[in-house]
Amino acid sequence: MSHIVRTTGLTKRYNRTLAVAGLDLDIAEGEIFGLVGPNGAGKTTILRILATLLVPSAGDAEIAGASVRRNPNAVRQVIGYMPDSFGVYDDMKVWEYLDFFGRCHGLPAARRRRVVADLLELVDLAPKRDAYVQTLSRGMQQRLCLAHALVHDPQVLLLDEPASGLDPRARVELRELLRELRNLGKTILISSHILPELEELCTSIAIIDRGRVLVSGRVADIERRLRVGAVLRVRVLGDGEAAEAARAWFERDAEVAAASLLDDGTIEIGFRGDDAGSARLLAEAISAGLRVITFARAASDLEELFLQVTAVDEPDAVKDGTAVARKGAAA
Ligand code: ADP
Repeated sequence: MSHIVRTTGLTKRYNRTLAVAGLDLDIAEGEIFGLVGPNGAGKTTILRILATLLVPSAGDAEIAGASVRRNPNAVRQVIGYMPDSFGVYDDMKVWEYLDFFGRCHGLPAARRRRVVADLLELVDLAPKRDAYVQTLSRGMQQRLCLAHALVHDPQVLLLDEPASGLDPRARVELRELLRELRNLGKTILISSHILPELEELCTSIAIIDRGRVLVSGRVADIERRLRVGAVLRVRVLGDGEAAEAARAWFERDAEVAAASLLDDGTIEIGFRGDDAGSARLLAEAISAGLRVITFARAASDLEELFLQVTAVDEPDAVKDGTAVARKGAAA
């Protein structure tokens, strides 16, 4: 399988914050690949590095064989990037907006006219050709932004939370548009902090938290694997300090995706292993001196795992069972 996007040990540090922590990702051509994780997981940073807007602190990323470090100009030719916020463009009509970016990409006038017309058709904004950009609905602005990312006919689209702030109907329209783009041969990398939004649309996903990949792969494969995996609930004898020490111990295990300490002292573990794996984990925990009182295993699906691994600091942040926002609201 040919990989059109590949990151190797990709790392980004902002002063003391490790935003991306040695990320290895392989994305095959023609995929709709979802990056999913709570706010602050590192999604925007990853996409900005791939878009050559940020330089990695270590590691590298290649798009269509070009390195973001050594050959950013070649990368820019093959990617279309849509940031998570739409800039303000006063007094600019829809067609002028796209025409402007066509100029930026050096498209000659005749070609620009054709491209603008085709893109407006594609994103269903042809009737809004002469409307002012600021009069468009949020969903329309989002589609216009997507058209902007497509002006130079890139192979790879990098979309940062494109569905955020859209009403349900606009979400459905966006999803259909992305499927259409995939049928046109584009590879799409899309981020969201809402798993169900991506689960349905994407061919593959990576669940990320604190700049690391917790699980990744084809959606169906992950779901199958997670049916084998589980959430383990463990309690140990002693005070909060003992529980935290036990949590930290569990988190170091290679088969543990994440371990969090709940208010009632329960350690909740996102576990990748099978039954034999949890038997091994329990035996090792006891050998290591942890005074385990209970060690229970609950079956889990993708959503449950996502909630387990992401809603660590503020369990209350999970309101409707779908949105996970650890640090305030989404942009
Ligand atoms: P996400 O897109 O998943 O919400 P980000 O990539 O925006 O995550 O942020 C990842 C981490 O890096 C967060 O802890 C965030 O606070 C931090 N961060 C992002 N941008 C900056 C910056 N310019 N300076 C310092 N820290 C930053």
